[in-house]
Amino acid sequence: MHPDEILAAVCEGAAVSDAAIRAFVAGVVDGSLSRPQIAAWLAWAYARGLDGPATATLLEAMATTGERLAWPPGAPCVDKHSTGGVGDKTSLVLAPLWAAAGRRVPMISGRGLAHTGGTLDKLESIPGFRTDRDPDALGRQLEAVGCFIAAQTPALAPADRVLYALRDEIGAIASVPLIVASILSKKLAAGVEALVLDVKVGPGGFMPDLPSARGLADALVAAGSRAGMQVHALLTAMDRPLGRAVGNAVETAEAIACLRGEGPDDLRALVLALADLPEGARLLDGGAALARFQAMVEAQGGDPRVVDDPGRLAGDGVREAVVVAGRAGTVAQVDALAVGRAALRLGGGRQRAEDPVDPGVGVILEVTVGEPVVPGQPLARLLHRDGRGCEEATALVTGAVVLAEGPVEVSPLVLERRAHAAGRGADLL
Ligand code: URA
Repeated sequence: MHPDEILAAVCEGAAVSDAAIRAFVAGVVDGSLSRPQIAAWLAWAYARGLDGPATATLLEAMATTGERLAWPPGAPCVDKHSTGGVGDKTSLVLAPLWAAAGRRVPMISGRGLAHTGGTLDKLESIPGFRTDRDPDALGRQLEAVGCFIAAQTPALAPADRVLYALRDEIGAIASVPLIVASILSKKLAAGVEALVLDVKVGPGGFMPDLPSARGLADALVAAGSRAGMQVHALLTAMDRPLGRAVGNAVETAEAIACLRGEGPDDLRALVLALADLPEGARLLDGGAALARFQAMVEAQGGDPRVVDDPGRLAGDGVREAVVVAGRAGTVAQVDALAVGRAALRLGGGRQRAEDPVDPGVGVILEVTVGEPVVPGQPLARLLHRDGRGCEEATALVTGAVVLAEGPVEVSPLVLERRAHAAGRGADLL
């Protein structure tokens, strides 16, 4: 839609045509629309919303206006997208697990922002690991190893880069159709055929409650199916962090432990639920998934010895402070948002896209929901550099661990599954 038609459309409540959406995306990519014009369009879409067909057109236009990764015929190309949480290192385990089961996993991932961590930041805690691979290298790795986890190339869904940054600037992130188009356009452009969505529910994630998470999951499943992908979604709890480690190197170490068939239990349970493989547990316990992870690390320039010696992960010079319980009780809640903010204060996350992160700092929780504690017992260890952010992080973690009298029921991790009405969702898995 031409910019001067936007106000008229807003006033008249007019429908937006497919041709206008395509022209808008083309104008974003070729630079013929100015930033204020694009911002006006986004504000219009944010305020008015887009229906299912318009969302599908937007996502398709965003996916096709740029480079599309195409993989030779072969095993199904599958992927997972999480709406972001605290301590969520599932991608590091899931990609090699699927590869060990014979799937191809072309995983394009992102970086952390605010209290949520990013898969690329976690992987970059492995010395030498490169996330900026060109499509030819990615193709070779996909055939040889079965998976890669890499950054979005500048040519992949280029409209999304511009639109996402501007949405952030004008406060238009929280729009279901714009989120759907943003997430799925990148998956479509990366050649993904089957997609599992992990829509987090709770204060540590994007969607604070079940109805809002359900709305986003259903919109993603519907639009993805319309675009020709097999999509299903799990709604999973993000009221508490996933696993015990929050921070880049410590999360990578925890993912490696999970790939060895160890805990933590919630991480393993979520990985297996998302993987949806009858042989999933065997591939974790028998070392096949770990071997794929090691091959992926090596193919992307990282030090493969981290698999046997996680002490090689970034973390030199960090020091430890212990947060202890002030009284006895049972852990009723570990507030994911507060723990994520603690890791951010320590330097493990970024406030703005261009901020650097410290891969070595973070929080290691020593207790989880349902466990009894006694006064003086360690609740968490803070990994800090020269005390930076330690005082605030201590206060945040102390407040995050809520104690109750008597026993506490642990709520389920996987809350719901949402699939397209016409089918199971992702049979290619
Ligand atoms: N993640 C994305 O990639 N896009 C959004 O719009 C929101 C989250």
